[in-house]
Amino acid sequence: MAKVLRCSDVGFECEGVIRAETEEEVLKQAAEHARTVHNLQEMTEEVVEKVRGAIRDE
Ligand SMILES: [Zn+2]
Repeated sequence: MAKVLRCSDVGFECEGVIRAETEEEVLKQAAEHARTVHNLQEMTEEVVEKVRGAIRDE
């Protein structure tokens, strides 16, 4: 089962969808996506919590 994160579920107006095998991998890719696409330089504790809450099983 894969983990899926929709960027829009974190609050961005974005079609981005991140898929990975584990939550840690999703978080890693989400950090990269946030940095490159949304110009978010760091994942604060608050953002990480939001992302964790938005991750769904596929
Ligand atoms: Zn996005």
